Amino acid sequence: VRYPLFLDVSGRRVVVVGGGAVAVRRARALHEAGAYVVVVAPEVSGGIDAVEVHRRPFEPDDVDGAWLVLACTDDGEVNAVVAAAAAERGIWCARADRADESAAWVPAAGAVDDVQVAVTAGGDPTRARELRDAALRALHAGEWHARPGRKSGGRVVLVGGGPGDPGLLTLRGYRALLDADVVVADRLGPAELAGLLPTDVEVVDVGKDPRGHAASQDDINTLLVDRARAGQVVVRLKGGDPFVLGRGSEEVDACVAAGVVVEVVPGVSSVTSAPGLAGVPLTKRGTTQQFTVVSGHVPPGDPRSTVDWSSVAAGDGTVVLLMAVANLRAIAAALVEGGRDPQTPGVIVENASLPSQRVVYATLKDLADVAERESVVPPAVVVVGPVVSDRTGGADAPP
Ligand code: SAH
Repeated sequence: VRYPLFLDVSGRRVVVVGGGAVAVRRARALHEAGAYVVVVAPEVSGGIDAVEVHRRPFEPDDVDGAWLVLACTDDGEVNAVVAAAAAERGIWCARADRADESAAWVPAAGAVDDVQVAVTAGGDPTRARELRDAALRALHAGEWHARPGRKSGGRVVLVGGGPGDPGLLTLRGYRALLDADVVVADRLGPAELAGLLPTDVEVVDVGKDPRGHAASQDDINTLLVDRARAGQVVVRLKGGDPFVLGRGSEEVDACVAAGVVVEVVPGVSSVTSAPGLAGVPLTKRGTTQQFTVVSGHVPPGDPRSTVDWSSVAAGDGTVVLLMAVANLRAIAAALVEGGRDPQTPGVIVENASLPSQRVVYATLKDLADVAERESVVPPAVVVVGPVVSDRTGGADAPP
């Protein structure tokens, strides 16, 4: 039985003997852990991560002053000399060639967030790597999971939940949900969350209060800060990406101002995913190399609008409209007025990624009429531009 240990090698001298693939790999891992890496070998590949490189055969004195020695040459005799030099000086040495002759073993290792995995399997490196990979997969997927202890303190994690299908949540976002004491969500029914969350996680729906009113942004900010200050891990689950038309940055600012630790986990935005799920590319070689994303919640011409619709209309780049269903007629008119061809193809993607997803095609001139006739409701993403005719795969053929 061997005694496992995690070493703080930062700033400490570690001597790697050898210049081949194994040495390069070990030097990189040590360098990433902050070690002062010294490499000794007659031939060393150029990009090795070392502070000192000595291009010559090993000499026993090379290990003087080292905290750790790694013998990684492909010559068993040299590795034996290195191991002996280290042993004489009371320094731990790991031999890459002979597990049975090695004082220390370098495990197959990896990390997911702050969980580090290190595996040995009786000196069989392939088996150790396979077990390490299995462990990392289980950790990434949240299949192996343990909530951080209380002492890690309260904090807020803004998680981008994607367009709705839980399959479009990121792995990191999902793990954050598993770590949560409380999840603050908008309009996400408990039914949708139940399949994702451990049963003991509290869910606060700020989409609407018992009287059917949505919580104000100030209320939400206060809730996040108060819960985190009470020591809870608070996940603020937001649709799409937290920093796309979602006021996520205001929530971050509120946490920072209150001295609360806050982290952002980006999400799959409806900006790109809704068109993608309908098979509509946002850019296409030979068609357009740009897309503009605009919020349509304030209609063109409204004094509160900060959008320059004439510049959105200019050229023939793709236009992606969010929160635009209610103002579609005015927006389409502004785009035509700004110079867009009324025959430019358009598509409305309603409830993207959800079982109720619907894709409706119409030219720019007909967009509002078709949306009305088809009773399009939010959430929907509207895409206007020549790329709409370039759709590939996806459901519902364009007219
Ligand atoms: N942060 C979000 C956007 C919030 S604004 C994101 O990155 O996706 C809300 C708007 O997003 C909606 O009005 C709609 O235009 C769009 N949206 C969000 N989810 C959607 C979905 N599943 N299908 C279509 N549009 C969606």
